[in-house]
Order: sequence, then structure tokens, then C-alpha cells
Amino acid sequence: MEGTTFHSGTGKTTQIGYVNRRNQKVLGTRGAPGNDYLQYSYKVECQHLKCKLVYGANGSDLYQRKCPRCQGGRPGLKY
Ligand SMILES: [Zn+2]
Repeated sequence: MEGTTFHSGTGKTTQIGYVNRRNQKVLGTRGAPGNDYLQYSYKVECQHLKCKLVYGANGSDLYQRKCPRCQGGRPGLKY
């Protein structure tokens, strides 16, 4: 079920506030489906000051996700 509030997932890399080594910050999920098996889409914010893109990414990708705009990552998902 999709809700309105964003919450953390269960793993370390799905916690709100987690920042991966590519400087992509997790802002949580409201239960929207991702596009990989059994995955939720998480709201992510690129931390590069000239970018700051907000986009959606599968929970399983968060540890290595690249920004779609400034790092050549895959297109963002709905979140
Ligand atoms: Zn970026």
C-alpha cells in the first residue's frame, strides 16, 4: 500500500539519512513499487550542490545508486 509519509526500510542502506559512496542520500519510501522484483521505490536526493536532483530508486540499488543527471545513472523511478 502506498501511504503519504516516507519511512525507512529495514536494511542499513534503506534508512532515511543514509548517504552512499556516490553522495546519494536516501529520503525514505512511502511504499510505491520499484521496477525490480519485490522492491519499493525510495526517494533519493543527489547531494552534489549544483545538482540536488530528487528521484526514485529501487531499495536494492541504494548502496550503489548513481544520480541520473550528474553521474550517468539509470533514469529515476516514480516514488
Ligand atoms: Zn546529481
